[in-house]
Amino acid sequence: MRDRYDIVIVGAGPFGLATAYHLAAEAAERSILVVDARDGPGEGSMGASNAMARDVFSSRDNRLLAGSSIAFYVQLMAEHPELRAPVPLLDRYGYLWLLPERLQEEYGALVAHNRGAIDAELLGLEELRGCPGLSVAPARWYEGDDAPPPEPITGGLFGRNCGAIAPELLARFYREAAERRGVEFAFGQTVRRLSFEGRPEILRHEPDGRPYGFQEQMAGRLRIARVHFGDDRSTAADRVVVAGGAWSDRILHPLGFATGCSPRAQRLFSVAGPAAEEILDWSAPVHPLDSTDGRGRCPFLILPTGATIKPIFRQRRLWLGGVETLTHPIGTREDPARDGRLDFDMGRLGDRSAYATDLLPAISPYFPALESGGARLESSWGGYYSFSPDGLPVLVTTAYGVTFVGGDSGSGIMKADALGRLAAAACRGRHEARLFTGETYRPERLSLERRDVEPERIIL
Ligand SMILES: Cc1cc2nc3c(=O)[nH]c(=O)nc-3n(C[C@H](O)[C@H](O)[C@H](O)COP(=O)(O)OP(=O)(O)OC[C@H]3O[C@@H](n4cnc5c(N)ncnc54)[C@H](O)[C@@H]3O)c2cc1C
Repeated sequence: MRDRYDIVIVGAGPFGLATAYHLAAEAAERSILVVDARDGPGEGSMGASNAMARDVFSSRDNRLLAGSSIAFYVQLMAEHPELRAPVPLLDRYGYLWLLPERLQEEYGALVAHNRGAIDAELLGLEELRGCPGLSVAPARWYEGDDAPPPEPITGGLFGRNCGAIAPELLARFYREAAERRGVEFAFGQTVRRLSFEGRPEILRHEPDGRPYGFQEQMAGRLRIARVHFGDDRSTAADRVVVAGGAWSDRILHPLGFATGCSPRAQRLFSVAGPAAEEILDWSAPVHPLDSTDGRGRCPFLILPTGATIKPIFRQRRLWLGGVETLTHPIGTREDPARDGRLDFDMGRLGDRSAYATDLLPAISPYFPALESGGARLESSWGGYYSFSPDGLPVLVTTAYGVTFVGGDSGSGIMKADALGRLAAAACRGRHEARLFTGETYRPERLSLERRDVEPERIIL
């Protein structure tokens, strides 16, 4: 590691990797270092995720950020054979929302108003009846409960420009392409804190090293100076991009920097068995963008309860999940600022016992066979969603040289390329960035002070 870098990026998740790649695209002579506590790229929440991609969002901003990133990933596949086979970077087998009446109207209107921008088709109840094991009108939540049953399913919405990303391929592409452009990577290295130490022009409180309050008003004087690592080493930096996912607050809060985001643990459960096999073999009556014979496979299913079912075709598994806001306190268990290391353990965050108690009751009313011996739990793991208040990412740049990119709200991989372009532009002080699909977008729209986005209602 060198004594100083123009830019240090904290975090080699999708946001940090895409930012490094786009920063390096323009000026190869810049010295850029990406630091990550894990042993390789994409091993934070990215590695624990469902890694699905969709352009069906209620917010036009999210549609643009995800749609342009998906288009970029499709282009990468066209250019790089190793991103097409044996495993495709993006497999657009589609999303299928199984909708109750309440949402059918809302989603129908959304698609109708955005014809052309959202590639989706509505399905009638008859087309859904072929889904193996699906009970469209459940009788109860669980045995012995007398609350009104979960809402019946009255139709479906199939999103075509949607499907599964291979996260390890995406992470590897960005890492290797950035490296070819001169970006350095330091894995297994934790950033413990950022400081203004080492700039003689900045007065600092003793002994805590914080600058005096008035200096914030001295235009251009206050600049970030050093990045301190868990092993007590440090390096000088002119700018720092914090893309540390759920753990970003741990190094930004001590600077008085608020991200407006709330990290919450989210879990996935992998199941196998005869009921899972039947669902995996469903030839859905849809026309996905990616298929060998034009026929539909089992799409990514979203139930009226918000629970999701992801088909893992090669391994003959289903991954079951659902957005959890009640079950976990806000915040991360791990604290790199306190510990000087990031003890993130996907398996421990998984908590197998939550499968039966927290998740299954949101799935089994619609797929009873998944509960009654038709599927066995194989494994479970967890990561974090970093929720922003409105379901849009957050991108904040300070006058003292720190940029934060995060607030993925559970859909960061599918928007990573756009966020990388925007964070790179923000870091250079530009007011606009061009997305892969040609639209220009102001990074400031994702800031907290001048936020200008359409809130998102469809969070999965
Ligand atoms: C169960 C689950 C399902 C999901 N499903 C989807 C989905 O279907 N589609 C989708 O797009 N997204 C999904 N997500 C969300 C997705 O994982 C996030 O949007 C994405 O990972 C956020 O990217 P990031 O770069 O902000 O954070 P991360 O991927 O967490 O990367 C942050 C990196 O920073 C490093 N880091 C943090 N602090 C420090 C430090 N102090 N020093 C050194 N390194 C540090 C970490 O090691 C990590 O590698 C899901 C997440 C979970 C948990």
